[in-house]
Formats: sequence, C-alpha cells, structure tokens
Amino acid sequence: MRQTRELTGTVYAHPPGPLAASLETFAGPRRVGRALVLALPLLLGALLILPVPGLHLLAPFVAVLAVVLGVRRLRERERLLDLSGACPACRAEQSFELPDRPRLPLLLRCPGCGEFVKVTDS
Ligand SMILES: [Zn+2]
Repeated sequence: MRQTRELTGTVYAHPPGPLAASLETFAGPRRVGRALVLALPLLLGALLILPVPGLHLLAPFVAVLAVVLGVRRLRERERLLDLSGACPACRAEQSFELPDRPRLPLLLRCPGCGEFVKVTDS
C-alpha cells in the first residue's frame, strides 16, 4: 500500500524543515510473499546445483544467501520510494535522490546546494 508521510530534514546550523515522503508499506502476508519470492528460487537453485560436480560446493552458500536475503526482506515493513520538499539550507524545492535500500535516519546530499541533509521520522 502506498502512502505519504511527513519527515523532518535537518541541516547543520539551519532550522529543520518538513519533507514529503512517499512510502510503500507491506502488511504481514505481503511481507511473507515477498520474502518467499526471493528465497524460494535461490533455495531451488541450491538444490539443483547440489548434484553437479564442482558446483556442489556452492550449494551451502546459495542456501545461506537465500535465508539471509529472505529474512532481510521479511523484516522490511516499508520502503521509501520518493522524497521531496524544501531543502532546509537553500530553501529550494528539491527531489532527493535515494540510495538503493534507504533506512531512517538517512543522510542525503541536497542536489541544489550540496549540503548534507539528515532525514528523520518526525
Ligand atoms: Zn539545498
């Protein structure tokens, strides 16, 4: 489910300002489904390479990778999709570029003035 939430952007020596965040939240069954979609193909791949000479040594690593990535995705309750708002330093309206796996608190660079903006839950 997609929702919007207000986060707080802070820059050193400037008053904090609100930032509009667009998030995708995952409910219980959806989280399990997402984890299985990631982990099951890897587990199947581990089983398939088990009888192949040479590759069979990789099977435990692929199985562990499936469990680790599956648990990591199972714990993901929400994902930050988009972040925009006025930069607390330059006051210009910005659309902030997010890292691959954004987690709060987040330290981003303003694309306009280059200041570091710390993004926290309000
Ligand atoms: Zn700025």
